[in-house]
Amino acid sequence: METLLLGLFYIFSLYAFIPGLISRLFGFRVFKKGIAENEIALTFDDGPDPVYTPQLLELLKRYDAKATFFVVGSSAEKHPELIQRIHREGHLLGIHNYKHKTNWLMRPKTVTKHIAMTAKVIKEATGQEAHYYRPPWGIVNLFDYTKQRHDYQLVLWSAIFRDWRVNVGADRLTDKMLKKLRGGEVFLLHDCGTTFGANPTAPQEMLTALERVLDEAERRGIRSITIQDMIQHTAQGKNDSLSEASKKPGMGKGGVPVLPWYKRLIVSLWLLWEKLFHVMFHLQTTDNEDPMFHFRKIKYSGAPIELESGGKLVKGDPVLELHFDNKKLFQLGSKAKSSVHLAIQLVRTTEKALPDLARYIQSHPELNDVKALYGITMINRGPEQFGFTITDLPKGLFATSTTFYLKLLMSVIHPNGRERIKAHQEQMVPKILVIPTETLIKRFAGTEPSSPSAESKSSAASIAAVKGSKDKQVEVKDNEETAELNAGVPV
Ligand SMILES: [Zn+2]
Repeated sequence: METLLLGLFYIFSLYAFIPGLISRLFGFRVFKKGIAENEIALTFDDGPDPVYTPQLLELLKRYDAKATFFVVGSSAEKHPELIQRIHREGHLLGIHNYKHKTNWLMRPKTVTKHIAMTAKVIKEATGQEAHYYRPPWGIVNLFDYTKQRHDYQLVLWSAIFRDWRVNVGADRLTDKMLKKLRGGEVFLLHDCGTTFGANPTAPQEMLTALERVLDEAERRGIRSITIQDMIQHTAQGKNDSLSEASKKPGMGKGGVPVLPWYKRLIVSLWLLWEKLFHVMFHLQTTDNEDPMFHFRKIKYSGAPIELESGGKLVKGDPVLELHFDNKKLFQLGSKAKSSVHLAIQLVRTTEKALPDLARYIQSHPELNDVKALYGITMINRGPEQFGFTITDLPKGLFATSTTFYLKLLMSVIHPNGRERIKAHQEQMVPKILVIPTETLIKRFAGTEPSSPSAESKSSAASIAAVKGSKDKQVEVKDNEETAELNAGVPV
């Protein structure tokens, strides 16, 4: 059952998320973040709302802030006076479909109709053509890239705050927004709470938080501009920074290499998958801020394995299934200059993580009966030094797909990934790693994180790929919006 669910999720994420991912990743005909020193772009979705939109306009006026309103056509039709006022007060109007429906569930023709109807409402109220389009939930489908949409610039966002939920509250919302208060950010907020999934009074919290944020922005000399202005600023900014970037070909911010597009795509799919997987199967971690391992308690279902401590792991035994944090793995992999460098980095993080893991098990009574920790790894030289037993994965579909998956993962995270796979073909066989809970606690519970030692380099590299085979994803920076999307959010 679980495997079936996983399969379905995998297929779903491949087919349905890909267009969204492409747009988010490559900015293909999509604007989501600008380059600007002291300007942000506030954007408001789902309005106009007869209660909250006027209050919002008052607030924006007080701070001389300009914003972009992605309006729902049917609401705009009911409140042309609000549309006129938005326009009159110097804000920009964009389209958010005629009804708040996702493009995935509509035929391309219907989407086109939604856009045209909303554009007409805006034109009739203001005399202006609308040029900016944001699909509900930020969900685009492949047809949104075709010629039919050519007249519209797709606009997403770089900062999202769950402001449609009233329980986030003005205080937390303020904190979240202040963290993103820096040039170039495109803030996504909502001036209407009647959309499916939202809370009717949530905009009240948003208004309270926004006032505080605008206050702070004023103090710091940051102002809000429309999306149109932000796009212009960004075009200028890009020209200015072109000469800067050319000094270091292939290198991004902070000296991290820029990955080729196909790697970024794989990495993003993994990110998405890992989020879904963690939520669905309630994975735990010892350190939410900076996780190394994720794990969950399951009943062991494989062939019997002799344990290093003398016992035997058999079907039905409670085990902790370990998943390596792919974000961490990817970060280390992309920064490493060589295999040795990567191994050193991994040893440091692993040596820090294992004691935490041991203590976590000790302090969680529900985990006390866990017999062993269990994971699957690709690099399988040396983990014995950490107390792990290595066993072959039984041949079959699972082993084959795991091999494929782990090879893919290796080629992405490893500094010389592909070359490495070619050179070490025979070693690229997934193995099961098991460590009895007893051994882990004995070895690590009392120890503090220590500095890496030379002989444990190779073992760290082995541990690095400890992971469950279903955990299919690595992380790419700046992808909060996809993460939020996974939570099924109204946008
Ligand atoms: Zn929306």
